Amino acid sequence: MPELYSLTIGEAGALLKKRELSSVELTTALLQRIRAVEDKVKAYVTVTDELALRQAAAADKRIAAGDAGPLTGIPMQLKDNLNTRGVRTTCSSRMLEQFVSPYDACVTERLAAAGAVLLGKGNMDEFAMGSSTENSAFFPTRNPWDLQRVPGGSSGGPAAAVAAGECLFSLGSDTGGSIRQPASFCGVVGLKPTYGLVSRYGLVAFASSLDQVGPLTKTVADCAVVLQAIAGHDARDSTSVARPVPGYAASLGKPIAGMRIGIPREYFQGIDPHVGQVLERAIQKLAQLGAVIDRGVSLPSTHYALAVYYILAPSEASANLARYDGAKYGFAAPDAKDMWDAMEQTRRHGFGPEVKRRILLGTYALSAGYYDAYYLKALKVRALIRQEFELVFQRYDALLTPTSPTPPFRLGEKLADPVQMYLSDVDTIPVNIAGIAGISVPAGFLEGLPVGMQLIGPAFSEPALLQIAHAYEQATGWHKLRAPVQ
Ligand code: GLN
Repeated sequence: MPELYSLTIGEAGALLKKRELSSVELTTALLQRIRAVEDKVKAYVTVTDELALRQAAAADKRIAAGDAGPLTGIPMQLKDNLNTRGVRTTCSSRMLEQFVSPYDACVTERLAAAGAVLLGKGNMDEFAMGSSTENSAFFPTRNPWDLQRVPGGSSGGPAAAVAAGECLFSLGSDTGGSIRQPASFCGVVGLKPTYGLVSRYGLVAFASSLDQVGPLTKTVADCAVVLQAIAGHDARDSTSVARPVPGYAASLGKPIAGMRIGIPREYFQGIDPHVGQVLERAIQKLAQLGAVIDRGVSLPSTHYALAVYYILAPSEASANLARYDGAKYGFAAPDAKDMWDAMEQTRRHGFGPEVKRRILLGTYALSAGYYDAYYLKALKVRALIRQEFELVFQRYDALLTPTSPTPPFRLGEKLADPVQMYLSDVDTIPVNIAGIAGISVPAGFLEGLPVGMQLIGPAFSEPALLQIAHAYEQATGWHKLRAPVQ
């Protein structure tokens, strides 16, 4: 039998169900694995050993009583911007270093109800702002395929933890690519659901019109299982959509012959040519499986997406982060002269440089005199980007693009130049701007480093995206490889 930590949810679930393995055994093996590799990978801000073993024992009782679902007893991690009652939620920020939320996020609740076991909280770029996890106020996470390289970000902890066998799955958040880009860098599957499919209740807000929570898993089938558990209407998030949730597993294994996949040319301009070659092989594989490939697709407004994002996301962030004033949440500067001084000192010491940069950008874009020129203009271009996708999706079931223009880069490589860092999400950002769905699936390797491909679909097209991704995965077998970290 393979090591317990390298099992998928599906494999572990089958053993648990047959009672050939207990959740306590499985959880103990994962906690050992965390102890063995965490010094190198640094994927966790907090490890919840005792809680995990208690939840595992409870899961074993449920399984014995015949009351188990596919996630009962499965050890998982949550990104550290998802609220967990009784466990710190830091957003990898000094501001929230000691913050313990009084309530659970909707996704935390739903996974607990499904019987999943919480191993701990995943490291991230501070407040989810970044593409490498180097903006964590605590420490950077490393890529389990090459410890000198970044795991991507901002959900670098979750992606690295899944790739290194430090959990069976994790949840991330994706505002501009933060689930998909790290999934691509770490060789795992990452899904950004359609805006409104998964509740944002209890997700610490970055840019509320763009944020979505989604799964990071080893396989597409596991992704479907986790999505099933977290999707669906929640009245506590006003943007949560009330519509029936389909059975995601049902679309797996269906042939993809005849499905129409478009290749939008703008997404291939300026990418690393080796990434282009990996994707070319993926396109040919999908054609062999019978998909109808069209290379003539164009989405010209794509070129404006990054600029639009860096107006809208910082604008929303500057409003959302105004709540960290030293009075309501988390860190408060000691020895302040008066209220204004307290606020200034708290924000000066509580926020890192990237967070401050975003607050400055957003405050500027929203200020009197600039609002029309920047924020309002960006909203108009957002509508254009959305329309372009709508038109294109009249003709295609999905679009295939790189997830990120490059393979995982070295630690420190892009720290001096924020724009270079921002460009790492150039292919994922349009999906958030349009509020549609995107998944990153492993598509091959370049000198031992994973490369992901992105499949984009219209709103609520998750069944079709999972179907195509699964067919591709099964035909290639990339999901069977495990990162070499020991
Ligand atoms: N890297 C992008 C940013 O820094 C996206 C982050 C995210 O999706 N949370 O804003």
